[in-house]
Amino acid sequence: MSPPESISSPISSISASATVNVATMSKRHPNHRLVKIHRNYTVEEAARLLSIHKNTARQWIRSGLPTIDDKRPILIRGRELIAFLKIRRAGRKQPCQAGQMYCVRCRSPQFPAAGMVDYRPLNGRVINVRGICPNCNSMMHRCVSIARIEQFIEKADITFPQALRHLGEISQPTVNSDLRGDVQP
Ligand SMILES: [Zn+2]
Repeated sequence: MSPPESISSPISSISASATVNVATMSKRHPNHRLVKIHRNYTVEEAARLLSIHKNTARQWIRSGLPTIDDKRPILIRGRELIAFLKIRRAGRKQPCQAGQMYCVRCRSPQFPAAGMVDYRPLNGRVINVRGICPNCNSMMHRCVSIARIEQFIEKADITFPQALRHLGEISQPTVNSDLRGDVQP
């Protein structure tokens, strides 16, 4: 009749992480009506305006929210922030599915043209992926974590750094080099 040995249980850690999830999910739908179309926002300003954490805004940028690239600090156009929030509100937690990138001009997620992407690591954890929009030929960017890159690459046919050279050829009117060998005289 000895009492059962105390067995260390993972329940306490499970409930702790569940609590965290509930807390972070409570801000899932920031109000896009707070954003002014013709204003640009820094990450800090956007976070304050929408009552979200700065890291949440940075996560949005990594998952497809466009920024004005050549400015420091990073600026987010109000118009694009509104579009991004509307997509989220429409029910998609991530605006892009696996293998898709967000086209700024089309304002929608797109699979890269010809299944070709170029990618380069930004740091030890994040990879910048580039491809061409099949609708408007714009360059699309997406930053994905290294943990997710393989899921991304599975959808693409060509995934090596030299692919960018081919992307450049695609955006030009002559694509004859792609047809070499198949062209009839
Ligand atoms: Zn496009």
